[in-house]
This record gives sequence, C-alpha cells and structure tokens, in this order.
Amino acid sequence: RVECEKICSLWPCEQPEEFRNVWVVAELDEQGVSEASLQMLTPARRIADKLGESVVGVIAGPPGSSQLAVEMVERGADEVIVVEHERLSEYYPDVVGSVIVELSLKYKPSVILFAATARGREMAPYVANTLKTGITADCTDFDVDPKTRDVLLIRPPFSAIMLAYIRTPFRRPQIGTARPNVFPLPERQPGRQGRIVREEVEPPEPMARLVNRVRIPRSEVPIEKAEVIVSGGRGLGTPEGFRVLEELASLLGGVIAGSRKAVDAGWIPPERQVGQTGKSVKPILYIAVGISGSAQHMVGVREARRIVAINIDENAPIIRQADYSLIADYREVIPALIEELRRL
Ligand code: FAD
Repeated sequence: RVECEKICSLWPCEQPEEFRNVWVVAELDEQGVSEASLQMLTPARRIADKLGESVVGVIAGPPGSSQLAVEMVERGADEVIVVEHERLSEYYPDVVGSVIVELSLKYKPSVILFAATARGREMAPYVANTLKTGITADCTDFDVDPKTRDVLLIRPPFSAIMLAYIRTPFRRPQIGTARPNVFPLPERQPGRQGRIVREEVEPPEPMARLVNRVRIPRSEVPIEKAEVIVSGGRGLGTPEGFRVLEELASLLGGVIAGSRKAVDAGWIPPERQVGQTGKSVKPILYIAVGISGSAQHMVGVREARRIVAINIDENAPIIRQADYSLIADYREVIPALIEELRRL
C-alpha cells in the first residue's frame, strides 16, 4: 500500500504527455548486451521516430558495464542510462527490476521494451506490476496511434487467428516484450554518437541467493541461431526417435528441436521448443517430423525460409503450410534420407 501510494503520487496517470522516450532494457550475457535485447532497438527506433522521441538503452550491471553502452548507441540508441553496482554482478530479477523501477520513476519513459527471453519474461511483469501499468507479452509488431499518441502493442491472441492492438491509454509507461528473432538486429554504425548517462542507484539485497551454478555442456548452436533445424513431435512415438533426427541434423549441419508435446514428454529439453511458448526460429530449412502443425507451433517458424513436413497424415495442418511434404512414416523416410546423405 505504501508503495502504491508512493507511485500514484508520483505517477500522474492522466497526463501521459509527461512521459517521454522509448526504453530498451538490456539483458547482459557473457558476450555483453544480448542479441535479443539489441534486436529490440529496431521496434524502439520505429516507435520513437513516430512519437518524435528518443531511443534510450538501459544497462544495469556490474562495475565496468558502461563500456557495453557503445554497442547500444552504434545500433541505434540515442542515449544509454547505465547503473553499475557490485550487487548487479549476479542476475536477480527483483534486484535488476528495482533498479529499472527507480529509473522509471525518475525519468518517466513512455514505453519500455524487453526481449521475451526467460529473464525478460520475469523482469517485464515485475516492473509493470510495481509501476501499476499494463504489459503486453510476445508482441509481433508495434505502431503508434497518431491521434492519441498511444503506442499500439500488437500480438496474435487466440492461437494466432487474429491480431490484437493493445494500448494502456491512462497508464504509462506502456510495457511490451517481443521474442528473439521477431525483429532484425539493427546494423551497427561504428562511430555513431549518443549520450551515456551514469546513474547512482542503490540496488536492494536480493530476496534469493545463488548457491551454485552448474553449466550444462552445450556444444550445439542454439535453435534461434541455427540455419538447419530438424524438429520432432509427438509422432516420433519414443525418445529414441530423436536419435535418428540427431543423425539427420548432423549430416545436414543442423540442430534438433521439437514441439511442445515432445518437450512435455521429456524427449527434448525446453530450450529446444519451437512455438508460441517456446522460441521463434529463422532457419533456411526447417524439417518438421511427426508434428501436426498447430497454430501455436507454426507461429514459431514464420521466419523459416523452407519448411519440409514428414507426416503419415495427409490431412495434418502442417501439410498445407509446408513448402514440401512427404506423406510417410518417418521410421522409413529418415533412415533412407540418412543413407542417401552419407553417400554424398
Ligand atoms: P500432435 O498434434 O499429436 O501431432 C503428431 C503428428 O505426428 C500428427 O500429425 C501425426 O499424423 C504425426 N505422426 C504420427 N506418427 C507418425 C509417424 N510414424 N511418422 C510421421 N508422422 C507421424 N505447441 C508447440 O509445439 N509449441 C508451443 O510453443 C506451444 N505453445 C502452446 C501454447 C498454448 C497456450 C497452447 C494451448 C498450446 C501450445 N502448444 C504448443 C501445443 C499445441 O497446441 C499442440 O498441442 C502441439 O503443437 C502438438 O504437438 P505435435 O505436433 O508434436 O503433436
């Protein structure tokens, strides 16, 4: 209640014009600002240009993070706000989230965008809830209503059979997330100039403590970066089905992925799930094996250049959406394909 009163007294919700600029909150990984966050600079630029406002990157990280601001500027941010603190060395959603809330209370951005990664998906609702504003998750596009200057957060609800245009007319900031690869990475323009603003914020103690970190060996390319994907579904029938897919994928220089049913069955790890609640992929070739082609799955392969379906059912929805289809049992087709490829 105290928090709510504090926010309502600071937050003139009926005066959205007091709020300015489009923020992109940077998620940090071992390489720096994650590619998924940098991709969010693309819609941010478009929204900011339509509103006549600036694109602002926000980096909350350990000491030394300010050097990461340069890439955000060179990829389109006009300004980057940086908070550096020892307590931001480990990622805790409540700690980073509190910093973003503090900065929002001070600067009043009109829009905040997060990449819909695992971290973005927990931080964006934390920030939205604390600021008592709305959030639209997994947007596929953004626009601006020229009359009201509301940002329209566009996403396909109800199994992607329509597009919803969502706005929060009386609340600011408007908060949205978009999945990795929905927007392209903006070109880097070396030497592009922007303002880097250092802010002093005292992050709170985390509510949880990191006890141990176990690195899962990952020799493979993540599915969102793969050029060839061989994806399996419930039609594989058994986890062993994925061994055959793995062999085909390696001969094609690709990786394996799966439908949610395959993930739910424990045949493939969740980070390899394609679709609405999984990842969006953009391979040159997507081979869907024993996958029916539900709307929730297909929304994740919209950017695939060529889709090949292997299915025993000629009436499966994927057959209508694939570029090429093989109506056959995968247990016959895949070994034959593997044999042919080995001969090449
Ligand atoms: P099924 O629909 O059971 O299809 C299996 C297919 O295999 C069939 O077409 C069958 O003909 C074929 N087949 C069977 N045997 C063989 C064989 N021997 N050889 C070749 N083909 C064979 N799903 C996702 O994938 N990703 C998501 O992110 C996702 N998010 C969701 C979010 C929500 C809110 C909801 C409600 C659902 C979501 N789903 C998602 C689930 C989705 O609706 C489907 O249930 C799921 O995609 C079906 O998975 P599947 O195609 O593997 O299985």
